Amino acid sequence: MTTVVAQAEPVLRVDHVSKAYPGSPPTVALSDVSLDVREGELLAIVGPSGSGKSTLLGIMGTLDRPTSGRVLVHGSDTTTLDDAALSGLRSVAIGFVFQQFYLLDGLTAWENVAQGLLYRGVPSAERRRRSVEALERVGLGHRLAHRPGQLSGGERQRVAIARAVVGAPAIVLADEPTGSLDSAAGAEILQLIRELNRGGTTVALITHSEPVARAASRQVRLLDGRVTRDDAGGDAEIAAAASAPTADVEDEAGAPSARPGTP
Ligand code: ADP
Ligand code: MG
Repeated sequence: MTTVVAQAEPVLRVDHVSKAYPGSPPTVALSDVSLDVREGELLAIVGPSGSGKSTLLGIMGTLDRPTSGRVLVHGSDTTTLDDAALSGLRSVAIGFVFQQFYLLDGLTAWENVAQGLLYRGVPSAERRRRSVEALERVGLGHRLAHRPGQLSGGERQRVAIARAVVGAPAIVLADEPTGSLDSAAGAEILQLIRELNRGGTTVALITHSEPVARAASRQVRLLDGRVTRDDAGGDAEIAAAASAPTADVEDEAGAPSARPGTP
């Protein structure tokens, strides 16, 4: 008798993805990258500047298309979808957090978070209720009506994280989320990401920093656009990350050029 054990589809599968930016010669940013993200994971994608991290995040988040290979979300191939279908999928399945926060300056904290629900047809009173709840989850229940200019960097990143999780996406993709913060604020953001993950949120954390990567229970190493290692382990105390130098400065090529303010 054969017992079939059902293995859940990964939340997100990167399947033999390559990416070349046009030019003469073209820049090969990713070469044959394969990677599964399982539900409930907190994984770090770590590599030096220029190794392809932001390119990979853009492709995992369906903001960019691979030159070859596929990206599957819950087993469905996204590379066959047109742009409208992709943005629909993105608005329900993926939350984004970027180094530079990308909050809208004219909106309050809760209004910024409510942007994360705009394309879901949630009625406005419900959007407000869920936004307040998300801000409470990230420890900002007392800053609901503050605008970004009235918040510290760490608080702004909390608002961006609340915006990313308010719609309960299948996965949150965070590109150098501590990169603009001092070490204390960065450690708090890592702690928050770990708490959200313990609460069930699947997170891929992109970083050039080894101490930051050790906040995750799995590290995928990128070098020159290739995965060189993929291992469980780490999960070091945040204190170790906090004491590390935080020269998290992206070079210009590494900075996202046209990231949307809202997913
Ligand atoms: P990381 O985030 O690890 O610093 P990136 O994914 O930003 O790496 O970049 C990987 C490589 O691709 C780098 O060599 C970079 O210069 C190049 N690159 C990134 N974006 C573009 C683009 N839009 N056009 C051309 N080359 C790019
Ligand atoms: Mg980058």
